Amino acid sequence: MSNQDEKIQIFKPYLLGNAGYKGGKTLGEIKSKSKKIYKLSSNENLLGTSPKAKKALRQSIEDLNHYPDRTTIRLQESLAKYYENQLTVEHFIAANSGSEVIEHIIRGFLGEGLECIVSNPCFMPYIMFSEWQGAKIIDVPLKPETYQLNVKEILKAITPNTRLIFITSPNNPTGTYLPKKDIDELVDNMPEHVVLVMDEVYFHFADADNFTTALPYVKSGKKVIAVNSFSKTYGMAALRIGYGYSTPEIAGYIRRLSKPFILNKLTLNAAIAALKDKKFVEKTVNHIHKERAWLYSKLDKLGVKYWKSQANFIMVKPDIDEFEFEQKMLMQGVMVRPVGSFGAPGCVRVTIGSREANKAYVKALKKICKN
Ligand SMILES: *Cc1c(COP(=O)(O)O)cnc(C)c1O
Repeated sequence: MSNQDEKIQIFKPYLLGNAGYKGGKTLGEIKSKSKKIYKLSSNENLLGTSPKAKKALRQSIEDLNHYPDRTTIRLQESLAKYYENQLTVEHFIAANSGSEVIEHIIRGFLGEGLECIVSNPCFMPYIMFSEWQGAKIIDVPLKPETYQLNVKEILKAITPNTRLIFITSPNNPTGTYLPKKDIDELVDNMPEHVVLVMDEVYFHFADADNFTTALPYVKSGKKVIAVNSFSKTYGMAALRIGYGYSTPEIAGYIRRLSKPFILNKLTLNAAIAALKDKKFVEKTVNHIHKERAWLYSKLDKLGVKYWKSQANFIMVKPDIDEFEFEQKMLMQGVMVRPVGSFGAPGCVRVTIGSREANKAYVKALKKICKN
C-alpha cells in the first residue's frame, strides 16, 4: 500500500447519482378508514386478470419443488403462434416484466463511454437502467404541446458512441402516439451502429390509422427491438412478465443475458395461457375505447385540458398545482399520478378505470374544478 492518503473509491460513481425509480404507490400504502379508494395511478387493467391466465396459475401450483423450464423457449413458441408465424421463435426474448426486457437490452448494448437517446417525457426506467451501466443519456425532448418525436434533432444527436434510441408509442405518460411516417424517417436514416427500441406495451389500445408497432421493421430486418408486457392489457402486473422481439441476430444476443430458469413456472404458464385469451383482450380493449370517449366528453364539458390518448390512461393538465391536485383527488378517494418528474410539468396521468371509478373521478374533478 502506498502511504498516500488517497482513498480508493469502492462505489461506482455512476450508481451513486441515482435515487432509483419509485413507481406509483400501491393500494396498501394508501390507508383509508371509510372511503372506497379508486386506484387510477398505475395504468393497471381495472377489469382484472385474464381468466385463462388465472386458471393456468391454479393448475401450476402443484409440483413447485422442481425447477421450471431452463429457457424461455415455450413462451417464444407461443409468441410465434400469437404473431401468426410472421415471426419465428428466434425473434423473441422474454424476461420478468417489460422493465426487465428493457434492462437486458440496455445491459446488452450500453456501458461506460456509450450513449443512448431518450425523448422526455418518457418512461423513467430507460434513463435509470442506462445510468446503471454508466452510459451517457442524451435527451431530445418530444416537441412541446404535441408531444411528437423530433426526428431531425434525434438524428443530429447521434454520435459514433450512440447505441440505443428509445421511443414509446403509445407513450407513457402523455398517451400520445408516433405516426408511422416519423418512425419510418428515423429507421431509414439511422446509422448501422444504432438500434431503435420501440416500447409498445400499450399497442392493444391504439386505433389510429397511421399507428404502427415494430412488426413491419423487424420483419424487414431493421435494427429495431420491440418491448411488450403482460402487465397492462392482460392484467398481470403482479406476476412480472414481459417479452420483446427483434431480428434473430439481436434477439439471440439479448437472450445471452437470460439466466437459467429465468421465468418461474407459474408466470410462464400464465403468460402462455394469456396469449390465447382473445376474449379478455377484446373485452378490455372495447372497454377502454368506450370509456376513453366517455371521459373525453366529460373533460370537454368541464373545460379540463387533456391530450387525446391511444392508451389506457389520459393525461390532463389541471388549473392547480399537480401535487395539490393529487392530494385533493385522494381526499375524494381517487388515486392519480402527477407526471412532472417524467417531463410533463404540471400534468397528471389518470388511468381509465371501470365506469364506477371513472364516474368517481369525474365527480371529484367537478368538486376540485369549482374551488
Ligand atoms: C408499464 C410499462 C412498461 C412495462 O411494465 P412492466 O410492468 O415492467 O412489464 C414498459 N414501458 C412502459 C412505457 C410502461 O408504461
